Amino acid sequence: MPQLTPNQRAAVEHAGGRLTVLGGPGTGKTTVLVERFAWLCGAPEAILVLSADAERLGPRIEERITRGFDELHVATVPGFCARLLYDEAIDAGLSPFFAPASAADRLALLLDRVDELSVRLHDFRGSPAALLAGIVARIDSLKARSITAQDYSGWAAALPSEDQQTAREREFAQIYLAHDRMLAEQALLDEGELVLRASKLLAERPHARFEHVLVDDADELTPAQRALLDLLGDSRTATTSDPATAAGTVVELDRSLRCRARILQAAGGVGGSVSGEAGGDVRFWRCANERAQAQAVAADVARLLREGTAPHDIGVLVRSVRNEGQIVAVALEERAIPHQLVGDSAFFQRAEVRDVLAWLRLLVDPADAGAVVRALARPPVELRSVDLARCIQIARRRKLDMVSALVAATESPQLPPEARERILAFLKLHRAASGALDSTRPDLFVHRLIERLGLRRQQLFSAQADVVERLRNLSRLGELASAYVRRSPQATPREFARYISAIADAGLRDEGAHPAGGSSAEADAPRDAVAVMSMRAARPREFGHVFVLGLQAARMPGARSRLVEPLPDALAPGDGSRAAHVAAMRRLLSTAMTRARDGLVLAHAAHSDLGAAQPPSPFAEEARVALGADWEDREEELFGPDESLHATYQALRDELVAGIPRTGNRLGELRLDTNLDVTHGVVRYLELLKISALLARPGGQAVAEALPGINAAILQAATAEQREILESSPLDDALLDAERDARARAAAVAARDEPSLEAFLPRRGEGLLLSASDIDTYRTCPLKYKFARVFRIPTEPTLNQRFGIFVHQVLERYHQSDVQGIDQLVGLMDAGWRRGGFGTSEEERQLRGKADAALRRYHERFESSDAEPVWFERGFQFRMGRHTLRGRVDRVDRLSDGGYELIDYKTGRPKSAAQLREDVQLSLYAVGAREAWELDASRQSYLYVLDDEKVPVPQEDIDRDWIADTVSEVADGISSQGFEPTPSYAACSICDYRIVCPAAER
Ligand code: SF4
Repeated sequence: MPQLTPNQRAAVEHAGGRLTVLGGPGTGKTTVLVERFAWLCGAPEAILVLSADAERLGPRIEERITRGFDELHVATVPGFCARLLYDEAIDAGLSPFFAPASAADRLALLLDRVDELSVRLHDFRGSPAALLAGIVARIDSLKARSITAQDYSGWAAALPSEDQQTAREREFAQIYLAHDRMLAEQALLDEGELVLRASKLLAERPHARFEHVLVDDADELTPAQRALLDLLGDSRTATTSDPATAAGTVVELDRSLRCRARILQAAGGVGGSVSGEAGGDVRFWRCANERAQAQAVAADVARLLREGTAPHDIGVLVRSVRNEGQIVAVALEERAIPHQLVGDSAFFQRAEVRDVLAWLRLLVDPADAGAVVRALARPPVELRSVDLARCIQIARRRKLDMVSALVAATESPQLPPEARERILAFLKLHRAASGALDSTRPDLFVHRLIERLGLRRQQLFSAQADVVERLRNLSRLGELASAYVRRSPQATPREFARYISAIADAGLRDEGAHPAGGSSAEADAPRDAVAVMSMRAARPREFGHVFVLGLQAARMPGARSRLVEPLPDALAPGDGSRAAHVAAMRRLLSTAMTRARDGLVLAHAAHSDLGAAQPPSPFAEEARVALGADWEDREEELFGPDESLHATYQALRDELVAGIPRTGNRLGELRLDTNLDVTHGVVRYLELLKISALLARPGGQAVAEALPGINAAILQAATAEQREILESSPLDDALLDAERDARARAAAVAARDEPSLEAFLPRRGEGLLLSASDIDTYRTCPLKYKFARVFRIPTEPTLNQRFGIFVHQVLERYHQSDVQGIDQLVGLMDAGWRRGGFGTSEEERQLRGKADAALRRYHERFESSDAEPVWFERGFQFRMGRHTLRGRVDRVDRLSDGGYELIDYKTGRPKSAAQLREDVQLSLYAVGAREAWELDASRQSYLYVLDDEKVPVPQEDIDRDWIADTVSEVADGISSQGFEPTPSYAACSICDYRIVCPAAER
């Protein structure tokens, strides 16, 4: 039994009646609950424990019980409700075969049947999945307040006014009813419905099944869940940190057993009042940008590990792992720090899960080039980059889908025999799997696909530390398919493939694979690795050291999510208010900060990707003021010489170990070039030896001094073939240049293996041929540039992209016509819409309505302007140093003062002038107009057509030298094939190549 404080003991041994254990984070409330269970324990089966973290709490309680028992009742509230309803399905009026439906299930269901929903007044904003996810979340909020579809529909029908908002609420009421009807048709119950149905059952047939109920974190329960508790009797012990939810006898715990005093003092600045043991280290980082923030964390984590902290005792907390986790993971990877992204969306970012997803996607749609490229690049096919680029070229030139192009490629003389063999292996797998796509059960299909791809086998022979977790992820994919079959017994693998892709895209994980009432916490418990997780998911965790990132005012508190519409004030007073959002965010940050025992860093990125200033969160400021601390500036971190050697050693070691099974497999295949694989493997080992020798060089000796001797010794022992590879390796250059950043080192390490893509670079004379969008893409992410412009992986234009093309075309033709009247414009819109292949779905109808309104406004603006448009879609091309730049300007106006204005149409959301400060496009157009047309534009602007907003780029921001430097920097990067990814939320969330991208997976 642990040492208890007097107040803890008083709570544990409380004699009877309702008890509330009130205390802040880390005050030992959960320990009280565990000990109280043991103290109360006459019959363990007679005690019900409800906790959001049931999976961790259950084993803790089990450990404290000395006597035998049938079954412990430790569950989440929805889990308990599901169990109760299963046991008494007939009394509850339910099918005995009902199944719980996760948010992901419901989203997939609504996506499938979106045409049956009336969503005319709900804006798709380019993403049906996002709109429907927002609707699912709003329904959850209503059920959490016990407001059923019938209640809502009655309320909406009784609204007195007939305005647009009323019409929207009535439309939503219909969607809510349809949602519940669709679930009922499949005998599915969402979590809110489980609680409401269980409450109804308990109210109608009171149960005296449990002598005592223990509730952890009662302040986190929804009103509907609290109402259910009241039906479970009065013998209840609840823990809470909110005095407003306390009832009965209250025992207060006022001393944190977890956080040191300085951490509590900082958290006190944000909200909370608990004392703790003296000490603790709290720092505040003002990082140059998001990448600098991630690198600063990686450098500090590396320091902590060197000083003996265990990886699992370090937590990196962000608002959203999906949006912010990747960039942190890349920085940790650069230093070869073991880490794990934890949380709901992380499952779909795992490499092995994405391998299966890619296969499912390409089987359903052979034109899904991203999925095919991934399947080709990854085991078991592993086609080399240069051969991949050739296959994509064939697909493009012959206008074939990727799978047909691969068939054609097997006859191409350009492909070496080894590449042909690999493509044939792919086609064989493809044939076998596609034959079973409409006839096998989805769970069997997934199981066989995993076996055929050899994914499980590869993992079994893999020497990577996280092999068990990878195997478990593959099993969980199989479980997802089984859960899907249970819900839709007639479904085919094709339907499952569509379903799972939609879920992955929407960033939701299907919790259906977990037993009802289980949580994902156990499955996601990190191995001995630094955990990168969301602040919300970190709630049940504690760490020695915590980094809380992204504390910009725009994110914390930031704006309320626009995806979920606030509930009407009449039904949920204050739900949509700014104050409620700010209070929730304040609580979230306080919770995140108090996960730390000894060390805490609060960090923010002072500038966005585009250079706009981002002030720190007011909450972080309050914490800083509470401690009287200063902001510490953090720039992008460069590696020191020895740190660089250590990281290179670890990266090469991992690569060597990962390559062993691959080479071993090839030995078995008895190819003609097997000896080359073995030679490469031996060279990798020798290079590792070289770095190890450098690390052991005498103190004070420079790398450059030590290297020749070590090289000579190694070369002496090598064969002629190995010597040749060693001598052409770029590793020495990378080692010698210790100041090089991690990207250069990673590129050098990768270049040892990758054949050159030189033939696929956009060469023009001695330089490159580049457009503004090429430059923009490379600056956003060099790997995205490689996928888009070197491989030129075809992508299907999205509805929004097609819409953008439509608007551009209509405007171009409008200005080309002799008369620019509204009738001409409307006629062009009609013709263009039909030719653009748009359909009649609700989303397309909405876009059409937007185009109509926007283009009419455009016409009015054009009519009233005294500027005279003189050129449309005018192209330019000019030389800048060795390189050729080209582009096309949408419109050029002659102004009334005789000057010229360059105008570029946009159909996205308007950016502010500050966000456009580092913008390349219009600056390059201005230089292009001068160089190619000898025209000095006096103005340049973006015209955001849908919002009728014109945003000028100031003349003083057009700096030819800056453009020249930028062009030369980008061109050097492309020429040297520097295609390292630079993930960020802004870039990755709209990237078409996520399925292929290794940086998007863990
Ligand atoms: S997903 Fe992100 S990191 Fe990967 S290529 Fe796209 S932008 Fe780059």
